[in-house]
Amino acid sequence: MPIYEYECNKCENIFEVSMSMKDREDKTIVCPKCKSGNVAQLFYGVKVNINKRSMINNNLGGCCGGTGCS
Ligand SMILES: [Zn+2]
Repeated sequence: MPIYEYECNKCENIFEVSMSMKDREDKTIVCPKCKSGNVAQLFYGVKVNINKRSMINNNLGGCCGGTGCS
């Protein structure tokens, strides 16, 4: 499960949240320290996910992606 890093805009607390992609869309992230919803996501972990996904897409979309065309 990917870990997302957030920074609270109110108290500047940095915290990590571990959740699935679906949870990330559904859940409202609040600062565990001051309970503020005014948080900003830091680019950590997400980049890894994007890279992984694009690699998978490349494999599936490639000419020789499993069925063989050589
Ligand atoms: Zn806070």
